Amino acid sequence: MAGPLILSGKDFAAGVRNALAEEIRGSNHRPPGLAVIMAGDDPASSVYVSMKEKACRKLGIVSTMRRLPAGVRREELLEAVRELNDDDEVDGILCQLPLPDHISADEVASAVLPDKDVDGFHPVNVGRLWRGEEGLFPCTPFGIAEMLEHYGVPFNGARAVIVGRSNIVGKPMAALLLRRHATVTLAHSHTRDLPGLCSGADILIAAVGRPRMITPDYVKPGATVVDVGISRTDEGLVGDVDFDSVKDRCGAITPVPGGVGPLTIAYLMSNTVKAWRHHMKGR
Ligand code: NAP
Repeated sequence: MAGPLILSGKDFAAGVRNALAEEIRGSNHRPPGLAVIMAGDDPASSVYVSMKEKACRKLGIVSTMRRLPAGVRREELLEAVRELNDDDEVDGILCQLPLPDHISADEVASAVLPDKDVDGFHPVNVGRLWRGEEGLFPCTPFGIAEMLEHYGVPFNGARAVIVGRSNIVGKPMAALLLRRHATVTLAHSHTRDLPGLCSGADILIAAVGRPRMITPDYVKPGATVVDVGISRTDEGLVGDVDFDSVKDRCGAITPVPGGVGPLTIAYLMSNTVKAWRHHMKGR
C-alpha cells in the first residue's frame, strides 16, 4: 500500500527562499532590511536569532541586531522600537520572544509600526487578517497555509480542526483556513471529546506542545495532518503527532523535523520582502 503524501516543509521553504533571493537580486532598490531586538540572553532565543541572521545573509536581506540587557527598562525597549520605526532603511522589526517578565510582549508588538510588523502580531494586522484584507500575518500559520495550497490540499468546504488557540499559531491558522473557505473548529484544553472531534477533520492541525498526543484514534482515514508542536525530550525534538502510527491512517502528513519548522523562518523572510516591496512602491 502506498504511504501518505509527506508534506516536506523543508523542500517547499527552499523554493520560497530561492524565489525571494532572486527577486532581491533583480531589484534596483536598496536591499530589504530586518531589525531584530533581543532582550536578555536566553540561549534558545540566541540560536533562533542567529538562524534568522544567517537566512537574511543568504537572501541578501540586511539584518541588524539590537541586543539589550535582561534588565532593560520598558521605556528603553519601546524607545528602541520607535527608533527602528523611524529608520528608512528598516522594513521589518522583530522582537525575539520571550521578553523579560517585566515587559509586556503585547505592548511591544503594538508599538511596532503595522507596516513593519513582520511577526504579524500588531492588533491592526490581526484585524486585517480576520477582515480578509492584505497585511502581514504570523509566519508559522501563514507558511502552513501556503504549503498546503502548494501541495494541492483541498480547503473549500473541508472540515478543519486546529488543536491549540494561541495568538501565534492556532487563532491566525483558523483565520487563514477560513479565508480559504474551510469550516474551522478551534480546540483547546477545555474541549470535550477531543479524539471524537479531531476524527471528523479533513485537515487536522496540532499546535499544542504535548509529545505524540495525536494517535490514530484522532485521525480520519485519508486526512491531512499538520504537526506544529515541538517538545524537547530525552529522545530529541518530538512533535504533537505520533508519526509512526498516524502515517498509516492519514492521506498526507508533515514530518518532524523537516515539516513545519523550516516554514517559520522562510515566511519571516517573505514578510520582510513583502514589507520592503510596500516601502519601495513609487520610489
Ligand atoms: P501555547 O501558547 O502554549 O498554546 C498551546 C495550546 O494548546 C493552548 O491553546 C492550549 O489550550 C492547548 N492545549 C494544551 N493542552 C491541551 C490538551 N491536552 N488538549 C487540547 N489542547 C491543549 O503554544 P503555541 O505557541 O501555540 O505553540 C504550540 C506548539 O507549537 C509548541 O510546541 C511550540 O513549540 C510549537 N511551535 C512551533 C513552531 C514552528 O516553527 N514549528 C512555531 C510556533 C510554535 P488553552 O488555550 O486552553 O490553554
